[in-house]
Amino acid sequence: MKHLFCDVCKKEVLDPIPSRTFFHVREFDLCEACRDDLESAVKNTVRMKKPFDFMWYDKLRVDLIQEGIKKNKIVLAKTHS
Ligand SMILES: [Zn+2]
Repeated sequence: MKHLFCDVCKKEVLDPIPSRTFFHVREFDLCEACRDDLESAVKNTVRMKKPFDFMWYDKLRVDLIQEGIKKNKIVLAKTHS
């Protein structure tokens, strides 16, 4: 069985089930907890930004994941400039 590790918190995902216990976002694999944090972080930022633009939204997600990879967790209170 393939071992799957969350790209953000680096923990192994036991019994990986796609879209249930782990989530593939772009080129990254996220565990459920990190995916939830990512969704919250994105939502917090999206609320402050209008109009909605998918290019910008996609970049925001990748930025949050890449920062999360460095810090081993998704940063929720992100002040995005
Ligand atoms: Zn994780």
